[in-house]
Amino acid sequence: MRVINFNPGPAGLPLPALERARDELLDFQGSGMSVMEHSHRGKEYDAVQSEAISLLTELLGIPDTHQVLFLTGGASQQFAQVPMNFLTPGASADYLMTGVWSEKAYEEAQYLGKVRIAGTTVLPDKRYVRVPRQDELTLDPKAAYVHMTSNNTIYGTQWHWWPEVGDVPLVADMSSDFMWKPMDVSRFAFIYAGAQKNLGPSGVLIAVARKDFIARGRKDIPKIFRYSTHAENNSLYNTPPTLAIYLCRNVLAWVKQVGGLGQLEKWNREKGELLYGALDKHAGFYHAPVEKDSRSYMNVVFKLPTPELDDRFVAEAKKAGMVGLKGHRSAGGIRVSTYNAVTVDNVRTLVSFMEEFIRKNG
Ligand code: PMP
Repeated sequence: MRVINFNPGPAGLPLPALERARDELLDFQGSGMSVMEHSHRGKEYDAVQSEAISLLTELLGIPDTHQVLFLTGGASQQFAQVPMNFLTPGASADYLMTGVWSEKAYEEAQYLGKVRIAGTTVLPDKRYVRVPRQDELTLDPKAAYVHMTSNNTIYGTQWHWWPEVGDVPLVADMSSDFMWKPMDVSRFAFIYAGAQKNLGPSGVLIAVARKDFIARGRKDIPKIFRYSTHAENNSLYNTPPTLAIYLCRNVLAWVKQVGGLGQLEKWNREKGELLYGALDKHAGFYHAPVEKDSRSYMNVVFKLPTPELDDRFVAEAKKAGMVGLKGHRSAGGIRVSTYNAVTVDNVRTLVSFMEEFIRKNG
């Protein structure tokens, strides 16, 4: 009995990817052992990792200028590792502040060098309800890089355009919207995303890095923290999280099988329109704080008239087989995470529940 899973991450995974893992668990391709019992340097695992990289390359259209890396430590480690590599002595980096995760990235970089806030949409009460416009950015043309968070998991805002940063390398934390739709990878010098939302289980982080950018990262930091080390060793400098990468491979194969990122975008937009449509229709009961052109298609946040009704909503939804709807502890309210594995039908079920909930409690 599987529930409808609206968890913000780790999140639900596509059933075919899990079934494939189940079927292969004890005996991976006739080898008499599971994939996680294989050497990370053996041919069986090598084929899995190579397939994951080639699926990512094909699905995203990653150009030759860029390389896929599998890293550990989550996006939180990247908050430190990005400035360790690129915030060279005397340099300064620009940060675009759009939520809790950009604040954390900024805080970590402060330990390592000079950082500037080149744009923020924080409100006096510390919340965020939109991303900035280009004319609100005060970018330093000499910055070592510009850091942004493409989707703000907690506040439910998402960038629907990319900032114009001139020749400055653009670095993006895409943890909560990586691969939600097709994109132009070449606009970014460095993209990173924890797998546990759109791509697989926790434990592995995927980076798509411009090769010349990582090649000029600092060489006077420990090897393990240099992106160039992982790039030169095809993410096999140390033992990678083989099981997590295997599961990402299964998810990527599913993405390809259902029609690729164009198809995912169609579904994701349909899910967003269903949910925001219901919220707008019942705006007197469900309050959706995010400004329309910053609304996230991955995390839809709203509040009911009282915190008690929020709690009742979460409890009754659970009874109806829907979990993961409680808002982040810092934001309260309801958060519906509609990552790639959540189906349009799942969202239709939730929307019917929302309408029924008003009839009973409105
Ligand atoms: N960035 C964003 C946008 C996130 O949503 C999260 C996790 N929810 C993180 C960073 C932190 O990821 P991790 O816990 O894997 O370090």
